[in-house]
Amino acid sequence: AREIRLKSRPVGLPTADNFEMATVDLPDPGPGEVQVRNLWMTVDPYMRGRMNDVKSYSPPFQLGKALDGGAVGEVTASNDPKFKAGDLVQSGLGWREGFTAPASSLQKLDTRGLPPQAFLGAAGMPGLTAYAGLLRIAALKDGDVVFVSGAAGAVGSMVCQIAKAKGHTVVGSAGGAEKVAFLKEIGVDHVIDYKAEKDLTAALLAAAPDGVDVYFDNVGGPHLEAALNGARLFARFAICGMISIYNATEPQPGPRNLALLIGKNIRMEGFIVSHHFDLMPQYIADLSKWVAEGKVTWKETVFEGLEKAPDAFMGLFKGENLGKMLVKLA
Ligand code: NDP
Repeated sequence: AREIRLKSRPVGLPTADNFEMATVDLPDPGPGEVQVRNLWMTVDPYMRGRMNDVKSYSPPFQLGKALDGGAVGEVTASNDPKFKAGDLVQSGLGWREGFTAPASSLQKLDTRGLPPQAFLGAAGMPGLTAYAGLLRIAALKDGDVVFVSGAAGAVGSMVCQIAKAKGHTVVGSAGGAEKVAFLKEIGVDHVIDYKAEKDLTAALLAAAPDGVDVYFDNVGGPHLEAALNGARLFARFAICGMISIYNATEPQPGPRNLALLIGKNIRMEGFIVSHHFDLMPQYIADLSKWVAEGKVTWKETVFEGLEKAPDAFMGLFKGENLGKMLVKLA
């Protein structure tokens, strides 16, 4: 089976040279082990941080070793009573076509009628990030006006729809006409094409003249400054991601208007979704209901073949994805 390894640590924007393909033989599963053929893998922005050799909430990738991350696959051989050939499973062993691993590193996937790859996106980690960030971190309450950056991505598009399903006015920001059209299609009230705007604060205040109560930050940088400028009294900011600085080679200046936190009584809180997995059952129940009611849907951008995984990953930083960026492996 082929796998993608980290060949060198990127400096700035990752390039194809940072990755290399290798082929390994998969051993037959020993006692308690399972062999899996991956069907889908995810590429996510947080993986960029793991390419740096720094201590963080998720350990750095090792040079010369296969990368890893979320994947959905099918059991091809099992030497463990909990799994049998044909079972669909979820693992953290992406970036490879297949693997042999202890059964304890897998979870059986009950798709509940959804396509399996949905569990890497809307019905998985990114979807839960949207849900937890909005409901728990931002403590969304009736009447809140919600501003979302990175609005057409995996997390952002779910934030928009969850807020709409709960009856909120939503302002979404994303780059380019196709993303703007998609956001209008899913009911976002005001869409900002940030790549076409010189003054984000003006654009935000034109969309929400009375300001916003909740800001869901996926990108940081100028969007965060605009959100501070456009925040109402007692606004809550869920700081989910800052993709605009993930490839920076030097520390970036913080929001120049951070002092607005004080006068506006803003609460700004960062979070990592893994501390909110307890919400998953509640999220899946709500999601199933919203899907059945036609209130929530999602898009995927699919690259085919393991050899395309680096392109898919690098594409995240160029905005090449509408909805969840995925790699189809088989
Ligand atoms: P997306 O599907 O949103 O893909 C990334 C998108 O970011 C691109 O499509 C692009 O959209 C946008 N983007 C790239 N560069 C910039 C830039 N310089 N300025 C503004 N936008 C940019 O990814 P995810 O939904 O998976 O993740 C979104 C954010 O959430 C990321 O910051 C990620 O790290 C974070 N995250 C945090 C988690 C947590 O636990 N805290 C969990 C999961 C994700 P466009 O074309 O609109 O520019």
